[in-house]
Amino acid sequence: MSPYINGNGNADSSTSHMPSRSSKPLSPADALATLKEYTRGDGLSLHELMDSRKNGGLTYNDFLMLPGHINFPASAVSLQTKVTKNIVLNTPFLSSPMDTVTEDRMAISLALHGGLGVIHHNCSAEQQAAFVRKVKKFENGFITDPVCLGPDGTVGDVLDIKARLGFCGVPITETGKIGGKLIGIVTGRDVQFRDPETPLRSVITTDVVTGRAGIALDEANTLLRDSKKGKLPIVDADGNLVSLVARSDLRKNQNYPLASKVPESKQLYCGAAIGTRPADKDRLKLLVEAGLDVVVIDSSQGNSKFQIEFVQWIKETYPKLDVIAGNVVTREQAAQLIAAGADALRIGMGSGSICITQEVMAVGRPQGTAVFAVSEFASRFGVPTIADGGIGNIGHIAKALALGASAVMMGGLLAGTAESPGEYFYHEGKRVKLYRGMGSIEAMEHTAKGVPSAVGIDNAATARYFSEADTVKVAQGVSGDVADKGSITKFVPYLYTGLQHSLQDAGVQSVTELQAESRSGGVRYELRTASAQVEGGVHGLNSYTKRLFA
Ligand code: GDP
Ligand code: GDP
Ligand code: 5GP
Repeated sequence: MSPYINGNGNADSSTSHMPSRSSKPLSPADALATLKEYTRGDGLSLHELMDSRKNGGLTYNDFLMLPGHINFPASAVSLQTKVTKNIVLNTPFLSSPMDTVTEDRMAISLALHGGLGVIHHNCSAEQQAAFVRKVKKFENGFITDPVCLGPDGTVGDVLDIKARLGFCGVPITETGKIGGKLIGIVTGRDVQFRDPETPLRSVITTDVVTGRAGIALDEANTLLRDSKKGKLPIVDADGNLVSLVARSDLRKNQNYPLASKVPESKQLYCGAAIGTRPADKDRLKLLVEAGLDVVVIDSSQGNSKFQIEFVQWIKETYPKLDVIAGNVVTREQAAQLIAAGADALRIGMGSGSICITQEVMAVGRPQGTAVFAVSEFASRFGVPTIADGGIGNIGHIAKALALGASAVMMGGLLAGTAESPGEYFYHEGKRVKLYRGMGSIEAMEHTAKGVPSAVGIDNAATARYFSEADTVKVAQGVSGDVADKGSITKFVPYLYTGLQHSLQDAGVQSVTELQAESRSGGVRYELRTASAQVEGGVHGLNSYTKRLFA
């Protein structure tokens, strides 16, 4: 991409890269060839920009990317990214494990749109596992553990399944379980308008279209399509039920082409956060049983003996489970967790919109510099990074990716959507939802009251900040509210399309290319002075309305 001899731009910042000039104007036809006389590109390379000895620690607002060359449509830009060593997502968006951001609803919607939800742990282990199970059950290829009933069941049993789990297509087997001989199937219309006492025998459909065990998923889907049925039970040679395929999953697959799914099972990917106390081992067991794909070790300072040992223990105990460790902001912290076996690192300390860590603890790092330093180091070991906190708009996402992060984690930007936990209320005439830091007194008190749990105490918020043993709780976050952002079914596509346009402006067609070109000096940067930042915002108007998408 770079036309310059010294494309990496690591030369010093003197003007020695400028060619000598003659007073005679050159021919416009020579404009492109003349570029080659400069020894490096306009602006700064990423390494020059991120030289903190010269420029200090930078945040996303302190710099801009320079425009590149466009010869492709924005729709051709791929946002696919490797979020851990083993998991590829179509969109680089994660939601924060916070009790006002991610529970099952957010995790399902975000995964359908190509991202990954990380379910918070400010609740009992059982509750968190139930959230994970809901996400994992939401979409399937072959449903290998379908809920079944026996012939002695009643319509009431099916209605109860509908109320608890949301579906009512129930195979009926001799044993009432998977593996039993298939007798028939009961679906929504069979139980509609029926008395709950009605025995299933009188409503069951017995001439069921079935698929034979061993059938490929696409063949099963074709059978479903052609039979026009809603469910396809799969049976072995003896007629025993082995799995179920649902027509509604074909629709989900068609409606959400970017969805984050495990390739084999077609189930949505699901993440969840835990701490590093002994009780978290029991918590993790329940989460893994519920189908968890990736665990986030939730700590504000990841370079601790507890976390290092915990990562090692998880990798030994659950080798297939991906571990996102953190948080880190320096190479030294990163090295410890990479050596322990982390599959990805979460970067950020005190940059979140609700954080007061930097103010109170005097420890942290400006997020741009942190993302650059850690990602540069981690990439040498093939460990992806996630830029966590401080993402306030699409531009911040683009910059985090350019600095080397594989994905961003968002709290405040996704809070206030219909899918975040909590109810809307009105504050000074505005429709809002609660959004609070996990280190706020409010979040710590919530857990300190204790949530009934079979497996240990649940002071997730205090544990994140190593303050569970303190008699005085020192806040590292605040509690507030954020404006109603509508549903993420509109908001995430806005982020996605906006990000495609941002990469197009930078002249790159994928996240991978953005990072490669940034590293090699092809994508160029400029620092922004304070007045440049004023210039870059809306200014000089008497009043205006800021509508972000339509
Ligand atoms: P139903 O017609 O009421 O059974 O519901 P739908 O077919 O509209 O939706 C069923 C959804 O739940 C699909 O996405 C399934 O993958 C999912 N699901 C997860 N586990 C089960 C299960 O045990 N039985 C059924 N029927 N669906 C399940
Ligand atoms: P693609 O169809 O080329 O995007 O590849 P996929 O791996 O997504 O799909 C492979 C096959 O599985 C196709 O026949 C899909 O229709 C089917 N498939 C994908 N996702 C689901 C799902 O969630 N449920 C079901 N029943 N089939 C799926
Ligand atoms: P946001 O996207 O709102 O800018 O930041 C969200 C991130 O802030 C979370 O993913 C988490 O890493 C961090 N965070 C959440 N609660 C607190 C808190 O109370 N204090 C601090 N220092 N960080 C928090």
